[in-house]
Amino acid sequence: MAVNKEVYWQLKKELERTGTELVAVSKTKPVSDVEALYMLGQRDFGENYVQELVEKETQLPKDIRWHFIGHLQSNKVKYIAPFVHLIHGVDSFNLLKEINKQAAKNNRIINCLLQVHIAQEETKFGFSFHELNELSELSELKNVNVCGLMGMASFTEDMEAVRNEFKNLKTAFDKFSIRNCQLSILSMGMTTDYKVAIEEGSNMVRIGSMLFGAREYSK
Ligand SMILES: *Cc1c(COP(=O)(O)O)cnc(C)c1O
Repeated sequence: MAVNKEVYWQLKKELERTGTELVAVSKTKPVSDVEALYMLGQRDFGENYVQELVEKETQLPKDIRWHFIGHLQSNKVKYIAPFVHLIHGVDSFNLLKEINKQAAKNNRIINCLLQVHIAQEETKFGFSFHELNELSELSELKNVNVCGLMGMASFTEDMEAVRNEFKNLKTAFDKFSIRNCQLSILSMGMTTDYKVAIEEGSNMVRIGSMLFGAREYSK
């Protein structure tokens, strides 16, 4: 499935009006699809499997900013630490410590978002709002830059429920600060719910199937 230019331009225009960043989610899609969007000017791409990300990174231009958006296992951090631009799904303090360690080994500071559990479903990873407030130890970690929050809404057609989940995350985002620094990135919204997410204050959306077509198997 080729990339649809018109859809990309329309989306870019729509996002520009609200100052929203686009992460193009290329998981399961071939390198040629990433190249096609790269040719249109897109530089931020998101993947959620470590091996797939590492393979694509070696084959694609070096000025791509790679976002890791999936559930990251601690033992795999080392593979992406040399190059990853932003890790969206940090869902435990132990994972954050491991990212800090691997970042130090690579002489880098890695940007991270804390994933917050906002959905009704049991299966989604992330900190609870209560746990967020207890993350005071963050200041010890010199090689991670926690610059925002990320959340995934429930998988439902009930957009009012989705809106409420996004609203709660925005409230936490406005209140939460680390080392007295206000967070700057609020990553919420995908193909089906990005409009609602933006209305509720998202400034970074992660969009896959709208740009690249439906995925053949759900990942
Ligand atoms: C797959 C995925 C997306 C993109 O989903 P689409 O519905 O294809 O836009 C966004 N965020 C995360 C965390 C994902 O895993």
